[in-house]
Amino acid sequence: MLSTGINTSQVFDWISGITDPEIPAISITELGILRDVKLNNGEFVITITPTYTGCPAMSRIENQIRQKLTEHGLQKITINTSSSPAWTTDWITEDVKKKMKANGIAPPPHSSCVRALKDFTRVSCPYCNSSDTNLISRFGSTPCKALYSCNNCHEPFQHFKCH
Ligand SMILES: [Zn+2]
Repeated sequence: MLSTGINTSQVFDWISGITDPEIPAISITELGILRDVKLNNGEFVITITPTYTGCPAMSRIENQIRQKLTEHGLQKITINTSSSPAWTTDWITEDVKKKMKANGIAPPPHSSCVRALKDFTRVSCPYCNSSDTNLISRFGSTPCKALYSCNNCHEPFQHFKCH
């Protein structure tokens, strides 16, 4: 299929709903991973920013983007991974943080409290809001997340770390 007539906003629409494999409820657009779609000499150039240097989810996200665009008949695409500006958890909006919490992931605090990160016990439980939580592992299913357990409701949960 020819890509004639397909514009960048259409391409953006097609891939904007792709989700982070680790957080299936939240899209790469909501996380701020998908930065830009440009048309360059008939080729779509997609720019993504990894949430974490060496984040293992990124290659899976790239594959999903390629797969999605192939389904729409687009094969000539380039995916650029840009680390500048570096991704920050500040790109996550309050609405998305709420969505994260609703899915059992304690959202990251604003980077202004990065210094307080040493105090790992301050993370509150996404299920019962108790701040009586324990850090089980600094690295959860990905390096971006830490694993906690709640002393109040006894549910384990992940915390998306601030960076
Ligand atoms: Zn709890």
